Amino acid sequence: NSLDSASSNLELKDIFIAVKTTGRFHRTRLALLLDTWISKTKEHTYIFTDTRDEEFSLKGFNIIITNCSPEHSHQALSCKMSAEYDTFMASDKKWLCHVDDDNYMNPKALLPLLAAFQPNSDIYVGKPSLDRPIRAHELLENNQTRQVEFWFATGGAGFCLSRTLAEKMAPWASGPRFEQTSAAIRLPDDCTVGFIVERRLGVSLVHSPLFHSHLENLQLLSASHIPRQVTLSYGFFENKMNSVELKGIFSVDDDPSRFKTLHCLLYPLTNWCP
Ligand code: UDP
Ligand code: MN
Repeated sequence: NSLDSASSNLELKDIFIAVKTTGRFHRTRLALLLDTWISKTKEHTYIFTDTRDEEFSLKGFNIIITNCSPEHSHQALSCKMSAEYDTFMASDKKWLCHVDDDNYMNPKALLPLLAAFQPNSDIYVGKPSLDRPIRAHELLENNQTRQVEFWFATGGAGFCLSRTLAEKMAPWASGPRFEQTSAAIRLPDDCTVGFIVERRLGVSLVHSPLFHSHLENLQLLSASHIPRQVTLSYGFFENKMNSVELKGIFSVDDDPSRFKTLHCLLYPLTNWCP
């Protein structure tokens, strides 16, 4: 496999890639990912959604239907993260990497990043959305609250957890506990992961500049660096499309996210690439 890393024996099949989506984004977002990067990591990518999709299941993608409600509430999103965690724990994979359905995940960049870490170490790697730790009020058993600070990796930029660390998270993350922990700090799923890792386990987030969400100005990424990034994203910001600037055969109208353009740069032999 050409994606195998030379410096370590980590392989793509050792990585559980979880994609969070919802029924109404199957055609508008997920389809683009299936045609691009997921086609390269199909067997190791698990799509967590709330709605059945015969067409995608028939094509052999791993679609996992959660019982989570199809809402953008903290609770519904934590429910999906909890399903990602539990399904990963039941697998035999060494890493859990989470992305949203508006992320391009580049396996050629992901593999060397993870392979560089010491095997069996406690790793939580991603990019914070803030330039300082978040402050939360943890609800205690006696109904009092305690102020806590911690770093977390933005879910919308993707992040990864090593199995060794994920196993230690179980008392706050397995089964119903993830949603309980999320409720105790009244923050979304990605913050909850940061809280468990940094505050419960005392492990620090590894800050990586290779993950990108649409909360940052993606135009600032230089074209020559784009193929080396682990994740990219796109989205609207103040009514304007925020996406990476990449020249190529596809016009901005045909490829507003620039994901097709990037995919053809990384995999020029793809049959639909010009
Ligand atoms: N999402 C979801 N259920 C919803 C809305 C969103 O599972 O009701 C997922 C969506 O598919 C995406 C992530 O949550 O993977 C973030 O959603 P979005 O990009 O729309 O919002 P953002 O938080 O980036 O503004
Ligand atoms: Mn988004």
